[in-house]
Amino acid sequence: MKEELLSQLAEIVGEDYVSNRPEELYLYSRDPGAQKPRRADYVVMPGTVTEVQQIIMLANREKLAITPMGAGLTLSALTVPLKGGMVMDMKRMNRIIEVNEASRYAVIEAGVTQAVLRAYLEKNHSHLQHSTPESPPTATVAGNILIHGHGHLTPRYGVNSQMVNGMEIVLPTGEVCKLGSCSVSPYWFSRDPLPDLMGLFLGWLGTTGIVTKISIQLFPKPAFRDLLLFVSDSAELIPGIIAELSQINLLENCFIITQEKPKWAQQIFYIIVVSGESEAEFETKKELHNRIFQKHRDKVSPVNEEPALTQLRERFLGVPPFAATAADFRKGGGFEYTGAILPIEVIPQAWQSGIEIAHKYDLMYQLGIQLLPNGHSVMLAYSYPFNRAYEDEAERARGALDDTNRLTLELGGVVWKPELSAQKLILEKMDANTCQLIDRIKKMLDPNDIMNPGNWEVA
Ligand SMILES: Cc1cc2nc3c(=O)[nH]c(=O)nc-3n(C[C@H](O)[C@H](O)[C@H](O)COP(=O)(O)OP(=O)(O)OC[C@H]3O[C@@H](n4cnc5c(N)ncnc54)[C@H](O)[C@@H]3O)c2cc1C
Repeated sequence: MKEELLSQLAEIVGEDYVSNRPEELYLYSRDPGAQKPRRADYVVMPGTVTEVQQIIMLANREKLAITPMGAGLTLSALTVPLKGGMVMDMKRMNRIIEVNEASRYAVIEAGVTQAVLRAYLEKNHSHLQHSTPESPPTATVAGNILIHGHGHLTPRYGVNSQMVNGMEIVLPTGEVCKLGSCSVSPYWFSRDPLPDLMGLFLGWLGTTGIVTKISIQLFPKPAFRDLLLFVSDSAELIPGIIAELSQINLLENCFIITQEKPKWAQQIFYIIVVSGESEAEFETKKELHNRIFQKHRDKVSPVNEEPALTQLRERFLGVPPFAATAADFRKGGGFEYTGAILPIEVIPQAWQSGIEIAHKYDLMYQLGIQLLPNGHSVMLAYSYPFNRAYEDEAERARGALDDTNRLTLELGGVVWKPELSAQKLILEKMDANTCQLIDRIKKMLDPNDIMNPGNWEVA
């Protein structure tokens, strides 16, 4: 049976683009995070929308699960199948179809990576950029959007799922659908004023269809860019400072970070990225941000000393920022982080408890806040490094992640990019009618339960 399915898949995509060989399945049965491996039975790489449709029709006939995958880099094992079946790796669908300069958007296929889009824009439209996450350059733009990811322009322009103008989807029953202005116009420029169907696919972790194309907004690149750096040792100040930053609302980006090693990094650093089109605009913005921190000079100081300034400039001024080296610093290389989307007022407690959780599990802490649009909320990333070679360290990392996810929910926050156990915690806490609505929508779109089954599964 397995070999028969393999040859049917090979008829659709060609022999080179389907496999059930153990050495390939090994890679698709795990991700770089702390979650335990789970078995994939096949991997298939479609090259066209028609091939995606044909695979979906086959999966419906055979009741075979499909787990869509961009780069598989969420670290929450969201692309590692929960119920076997095939991983649909989208990397072959990697065309940049259009860049519209006037309305500033790019239409791309689902397998286009962050690095490819960035390099293409630099070469052909050097004054435009997209909001780039800190994830490794092989992460796909679509995968990031589909988990409501964050990029370097998020505080100013929105989370990446808010930057979607349109999508092309293959539904779990095989029909191809266009969403947004592209459903009535050749332009992929807007998602309103139509009924906003995008929400049926954003945040659903591949359980409602396969996205094949996406239109993402682009933004002008500023002529001037630098960071300001301040240090404090009081987490209590964070909500007030965020309120003041939001009041002037002139940031490009803002991180608030601390980590256990090296020792100088144990304080709380405010990294304020400021940009401007003219020198006058740029200098004024710097001055206004400096004034905010001067008001707190008894508790917050500007940092102009080495090595902190150089190291933090290197790490945060690049696009993307160089986060991977900052986090993956344990011998053996492993780290996982959970993102807590939090209301502003709970930050001090969330901060302190994060440090305590890391120490409870004998792990080093690394906390980082990314400001979300207009300072209405934050994403607090709790990173736990571990050595992949030692199962007991991975187990401690999983324990710390679980405690952190529980903390997030207790504080009134929501867990971002939730692994399976966190999805269950969220659903347990969720309003019962909302759970039912999720269940009904999934059943309506995917009657045979083939799309990434097990995720967002309402008991
Ligand atoms: C060092 C490091 C730093 C990171 N920093 C950031 C950051 O700054 N901001 C941020 O947002 N994230 C960050 N991440 C998390 C993650 O890497 C990114 O969000 C990444 O962009 C996810 O893209 P991906 O291609 O790996 O998605 P995947 O993991 O492949 O997919 C994500 C989800 O979308 C589904 N999916 C993927 N493609 C499709 C499709 N075509 N159709 C339907 N469903 C699909 C998958 O099933 C899965 O549920 C970081 C990760 C690391 C390792």
